[in-house]
Amino acid sequence: MSKTTWIKDIAWTILWDEDTDQHVYARHSNLVFRDDQIIYIGPNYSGEFSQVIEGGNLFVMPGLINIHSHAAHEPAEKGVREEHYSPKFFSGLYERMASFWMEAEGYSAAAEVSYCELLKSGVTTVVDWSVPFDGWIEAMAKSGLRGYITPEFVSSTWKPVGDGELDYAYKEDGGKGDFEAALRIVKAAENHESGRLSGAIGPGQIDTCSKELLRNSYAIAQSTDRPFMVHIAQLTLEFHSMVEQHGMTPIQYADSLGLLGPTTVLGHAIFIDEHSSIPERETKVDLDFIAQSGSSVAHCPTGFARGGIALESIARYRRTGINLGIGTDQSPHNLIEEMRAAIIAGRMAGDSIRELGAAEVLRMATVGGASALNRSDIGKLAEGMKADIVLVDLSESSMRPVRDPLLNLIYHAADRGVKDVYVDGEKVLGDGVVLTIDYEDALRRLEQAQRMMLGQVQDYDYAKRTIEEMVPFSLPVRR
Ligand SMILES: [Zn+2]
Repeated sequence: MSKTTWIKDIAWTILWDEDTDQHVYARHSNLVFRDDQIIYIGPNYSGEFSQVIEGGNLFVMPGLINIHSHAAHEPAEKGVREEHYSPKFFSGLYERMASFWMEAEGYSAAAEVSYCELLKSGVTTVVDWSVPFDGWIEAMAKSGLRGYITPEFVSSTWKPVGDGELDYAYKEDGGKGDFEAALRIVKAAENHESGRLSGAIGPGQIDTCSKELLRNSYAIAQSTDRPFMVHIAQLTLEFHSMVEQHGMTPIQYADSLGLLGPTTVLGHAIFIDEHSSIPERETKVDLDFIAQSGSSVAHCPTGFARGGIALESIARYRRTGINLGIGTDQSPHNLIEEMRAAIIAGRMAGDSIRELGAAEVLRMATVGGASALNRSDIGKLAEGMKADIVLVDLSESSMRPVRDPLLNLIYHAADRGVKDVYVDGEKVLGDGVVLTIDYEDALRRLEQAQRMMLGQVQDYDYAKRTIEEMVPFSLPVRR
């Protein structure tokens, strides 16, 4: 039986204005959705309904889209990753990826914790690009999120071997088996009875995948209309090794392999041939390559800003015509805080308040993400769109006083303001509480998994260090 929900006389709503191609505020409007679809937005509603929500204290906006996350790994690195840096490799990533391992239960606990953080911050669609684990599809389906299962596969893994030396551990079949397994998982997700799950093709990193694996996986993504994503231009060491090996920048290398196109999402395209940390490369063509191909960039500012790194500059990328979406590459998976970070980091890197504002960042986190995923049914509140809706509580203290609710939400309240979330017309967050996942249970399982993971670091680390030696505590510990 169909269910019709009428959100009545809403104080503030963010509607999509087709004529001017932008989000706009509306006062005292009514939003009605039936099952998974929005059927009415306007000043007066006189049709049928099965339930009414009073909108007098609400700010209603479209569900947010997170186009880049590693939900099953990142929460396990909480309290470890934030300040970890290895001067030998100009990043802590290589050492951690080589020595941090969990059992399937750990990955599933981490994924559930991430899904809770996402829902609490108003995310309704997420790309989860993780190393596959048993129970992944079921965990995502249970969360109620609209999800893109994106199993990571590679030809080789990073292998730090000594004084700043980075080697690669190659797979015998070049990653073919893992790619085939990824495809099977993607198909199973797409066939899931919820109808909310999709798949994307995600070779891990431009420098860990062979030309053959990159070309083959891109061809499959193209022929099956699935988004294609790869980590690229995300580390200085990667940039220099690509130049050394191929005589071109990572972006130019991807272009030479034919990997750039309208269904390609680049994470994170920071170290391009005009980034200030690469003074010797001044060809300044990378941005044009990205723009002309129609590829999107997944912008995840928080993790990079923690390492003193910024995309330079977000306004320049936008001016060049590049579509940008937002993601949470690291924990927390709080997309509203990520939007705030995008504004602040963008203004610092661009040296101007005019660099980026709330309207542009909302666009990135909604229609920008939808466009990256080639979707026209999400990211906007308009009749006929999916009922992916966020209700913000205007009476919450961090939302008061209310003059411009979007500014309050991004700069002040973030997840504290998010009251209810609907995905596909189903309520998945109520009064700030996740209704689909036992958050406390997931946290307990994650705590256990993190203890095990960190306890084993010494076995895998190339220098045989304990976790305390590899990543010291932020303060000295008195025993
Ligand atoms: Zn990433």
